[in-house]
Order: sequence, then structure tokens, then C-alpha cells
Amino acid sequence: MAMRVLVVEDEPQMAGFLARGLSDEGYVVDIANDGEQALSLTTGVEYNLVVLDLQLPRKDGLTVCRELRDQSFRAPILVVTALGGDCDVVTGLNAGADDYLAKPFDFAVLLARMRALLRRSRHLRSDMLQVSDLLLNTVDHTVTRSGRVLNLTTKEYAVLELLMLFKGQILGRAQIAEHVWDEGFDPLSNIVDVYMNRLRKKIDHGFDRQLIHTRRSEGYMLSEDAPDSPYV
Ligand code: CA
Repeated sequence: MAMRVLVVEDEPQMAGFLARGLSDEGYVVDIANDGEQALSLTTGVEYNLVVLDLQLPRKDGLTVCRELRDQSFRAPILVVTALGGDCDVVTGLNAGADDYLAKPFDFAVLLARMRALLRRSRHLRSDMLQVSDLLLNTVDHTVTRSGRVLNLTTKEYAVLELLMLFKGQILGRAQIAEHVWDEGFDPLSNIVDVYMNRLRKKIDHGFDRQLIHTRRSEGYMLSEDAPDSPYV
């Protein structure tokens, strides 16, 4: 699974634009056309992030936001609205939104905000990340496997942390690069593959159970389960 985003937007043109743009960036995108549909979709599917328009039919965005948080929905919510004014920002944040973007917005800005939220969302979770016998402490940045301390560089740690946050999900090379190298990354560079090879040596070398899995055309995944045959 790639990172999954729910876009709640009632204007078909805007919804289509966001769906295409985010799909091109490697996200799996679902669209909800109104507030009720947004709430029903989130009960059945696990989303990594929600982009939420405030002016919606059937149930407005603020109510959707409050109800999601009341249901202990933990993924980041990015509110997008045509309404201006500080009041909306405060109301949105009080309702449980994590960030706010006013329409019209630049798509690149939306992407940057989404990436920041996805990075930050780890703080809502536990300090310790675990996949099988691999343990990562997000506070002091120590990593152990079967109790043995692994010495990782800062970048190796950042790549591993991302893979552990999204364990069991395929992360594309561009997604990994965007999270770890930020701006100025050359998309044609093989730096992600280089780092994944180094990580594999440090994490999987000498262990029977391989945790890092490659899907050639799509990217990498960290999982304790042996994946289906397209993986190597
Ligand atoms: Ca709307």
C-alpha cells in the first residue's frame, strides 16, 4: 500500500484536480463529495492524511473534523477553505485540524504542507517504533535489532524512521527522498537505492528474517511478513 489520502471536496473540478495531482505524486487518493461520505469512508479505510474542505453539503467540514477527532481518528487533517479571516483558522484548529490552507492555493504549497504533517504525525504515536525485533527510539534515535545496537548515520536513521512509520506500506523512491532530503533532490539520482542498500546491510545482514523489501517499479517496504512474489 502506498500512503493513502482522503480528499473531501464537493466541487468536481477541484476534486479531480487534487486527485490527479496527488496520484501523480504517488499517493493513493479517495474522494468524498460531502461530509457524510467522508465520515463513512474513514470508518472503513485507514488514511494517512485528510484534506478537508470546510464548505460541504450534508455535513460541514468543521463538524466532520470534530466528529473524526471524537472517534479518535488520529491522522493529520489539513483544512482547505475559501473563507478568509483568522477566526476560521482558530475555529478549524480548535475543531482538531492540524493545518489550514486558504483557497486559491498553489499545489506545491499543498504538497509541502502535507509532507510536513506526515512527518509530524509521528509525534502523535509512540516514542518507540517496532517491526519484528527491530526497535527504533524516536527520542534518542537509537536503533536495535535483537538487542544489538545498530550504528546508523543521520540520513540512514531518517530513511529507516520513515519506513517504520509506514510499515507494511510501499514507499516510492520519490516519497522517501522528499521526506529525507527535502528540496533540491535530483529525481534522477539513485541516492535512495544507495541508502536502502546500506540500510539493508546494517539491518538485515546476518538475520534469517529479512525486513526490507524491494518492489522494483514502486519502491521499498519494511515488513516482518514475507510479502507476495512481486517483491524481492
Ligand atoms: Ca466546498
